[in-house]
Amino acid sequence: MAIALIVHGGAGSWRPGSDDDAIKGTTAAVAAGRKILVAGGCALDAAVTASLILEDNPIFNAGTGAVLNFDGFVEFDACVMVSALSQIGAVSGLQRVKNPILVARQVMEETDHVMLTGDGATRFARAMGHADYDPITPARYADWQDKKAKLDVAVGADGKGAMKIRRFLKSHPEYAGGTIGAIALDASGVLCACTSTGGVTMKLVGRVGDTPLPGCGTYASKFAAASATGTGEYVIRALATRQISDNVEQGMSLEDSIASVLDALGRDFDADVGFIGIDALGNAVGAHRTPHMPHAWFSGTSEIVAKMRA
Ligand code: ASP
Repeated sequence: MAIALIVHGGAGSWRPGSDDDAIKGTTAAVAAGRKILVAGGCALDAAVTASLILEDNPIFNAGTGAVLNFDGFVEFDACVMVSALSQIGAVSGLQRVKNPILVARQVMEETDHVMLTGDGATRFARAMGHADYDPITPARYADWQDKKAKLDVAVGADGKGAMKIRRFLKSHPEYAGGTIGAIALDASGVLCACTSTGGVTMKLVGRVGDTPLPGCGTYASKFAAASATGTGEYVIRALATRQISDNVEQGMSLEDSIASVLDALGRDFDADVGFIGIDALGNAVGAHRTPHMPHAWFSGTSEIVAKMRA
């Protein structure tokens, strides 16, 4: 059986000059996951390990360096899904941990539930031994202060206009969040998809994006697995990653399937989104409707390939 792994570092517009860091970061994540798969490890361990490397890298919007919400703190969303037995673990609105993807994995492995949210998710993380951790980097905080000042002008300092900031954010693509995702196929044919994010920048407190919702931002079936990035409100409406898998189940190639979901999201919403996926044969695909989506992958015995855009 083929082994394969693909990661993304978020769809959006990357600052000029940040390409090298994004390429290095995604390549390092694939290299760590590949090591596990080559040694006969499982897709879950490989995808989670790749995700941890991306979460710990402050340039990506997940774990350390995640973006802040409107009130100036970080709320994490994350999901792990394994094709075998449709195992799923997810967290939303999780606060102050280093690695949300590990908490999502523990929801899957240690509880009878699929998703924990808000205070309950944070309490569960502490019970699982995750120490209190401040994920806010000085760069992200400065960024938040700058955006907050501009938003106060755009929506009013009382924040009332923040209930409808989408149009404002759309005309400021540099405000988009990003996300990290990792998908692995192991030698026994099991697919695993992981996605982890701070969500969209300046989101309202309590906003849940596509990332933790199975079939929206994250999905793994025996046919294909996918991870989404970009404005989650659009990804949710399309049930996008489930659609990608369903198309493949019905005989479409993974590449065509992702292209058709992207087309529909473009046609219906002009959505700023991107996807990575792997099918049961180990084909790895990355595609997006944004200027950039750093992503890297290997398949079978190939070298690791990394790109800023597909
Ligand atoms: N999809 C993420 C969310 O909506 C954000 C992103 O990938 O940019 O929470």
